[in-house]
Amino acid sequence: SPVPFDIAAAIRTIPDHPSPGILFRDITTLLGDARAFRRTVDELVQPWAGAKIDKVAGIEARGFIVGGAVAHQLSAGFVPIRKKGKLPWKTVSTTYALEYGTDQIEMHIDAIAPGERVLLVDDLIATGGTAEAAVKLLREMGAVVEAACFIIDLPALGGADKLRALGVPIRTLVSFE
Ligand code: 5GP
Repeated sequence: SPVPFDIAAAIRTIPDHPSPGILFRDITTLLGDARAFRRTVDELVQPWAGAKIDKVAGIEARGFIVGGAVAHQLSAGFVPIRKKGKLPWKTVSTTYALEYGTDQIEMHIDAIAPGERVLLVDDLIATGGTAEAAVKLLREMGAVVEAACFIIDLPALGGADKLRALGVPIRTLVSFE
């Protein structure tokens, strides 16, 4: 039976990090709480228990921690989506807009076989720019992006709506206004 407790309460909020006016949602406190971490992973995977997910794609860096646990729980493979220049083999990459300037994410060219069913995972969705770029990259590789899941949604920033508009169902556990 489910252990009652509040996932939101296990997340630490840090004012003015990394710059003034930003409220940073810190999941290290959640990860360090065995019961909260277990419950979070169980809740995230719940719609796909028994579904045939081939690969979980996690976005650097906190998406590796959450995505690794999710992949294990679903008996799926894990694919790292990394910042430019970190992966050792041949890569495909895509550029996306930040508030100021641009950034690039990459995947190995052989990370996904065409038609594989992929679940995208990260810790938090804000504007959705990062996740949108990841969906684009995965689809270029022929992946079927079944859904995306995140511990935290910042709905005011519109990321979840942006992914739904791309036809990607989304699951989030905690919303901060
Ligand atoms: P987006 O591209 O949706 O605007 O930003 C989401 C990305 O930024 C995610 O990879 C996420 O890890 C990171 N991010 C932005 N703000 C926060 C925050 O307050 N807390 C955490 N943990 N990650 C954040």
